[in-house]
Amino acid sequence: MVSRRVVITFPAGKAVQPLTYYLVKDYDLVINILFARISPDEEGTLVLEITNSQAENIEKGIEFLRSQGLIMENLAKAITWDESKCVHCGACTAVCRPRALRLDQPTWRLTFDQSKCIVCELCIAACPLGIIKEAL
Ligand code: SF4
Ligand code: SF4
Repeated sequence: MVSRRVVITFPAGKAVQPLTYYLVKDYDLVINILFARISPDEEGTLVLEITNSQAENIEKGIEFLRSQGLIMENLAKAITWDESKCVHCGACTAVCRPRALRLDQPTWRLTFDQSKCIVCELCIAACPLGIIKEAL
């Protein structure tokens, strides 16, 4: 089996449900929704893990999504966090659905549990100091 994780940005009002349906029905892909931020009036974000026995089928499904006007990005394998520069503001924790980034209590210091991270990359944009990055 081959898996790829992608983040999809889609315009306000674009229905996501039929798209995932077509990925399953027409391309025989297994879709795991890792994260979804969907609102009828705003740009949405979806993080998918797409699995199939052949990479070629995954590529076809991704090409189909692109043809629907969606912005696709492949995701990194891991992220890094520069703890020495962190001010523990907690902004990144708001977007971290699996709670890999958390403010510890009672210290209110940020902790990062790599084993819970799904590498959705949403925290990278959320950090005002730019100290969360893709691992090279
Ligand atoms: S990439 Fe960032 S936001 Fe996404 S799961 Fe990992 S730590 Fe959380
Ligand atoms: S957003 Fe950046 S500075 Fe704030 S807690 Fe997260 S990593 Fe630290």
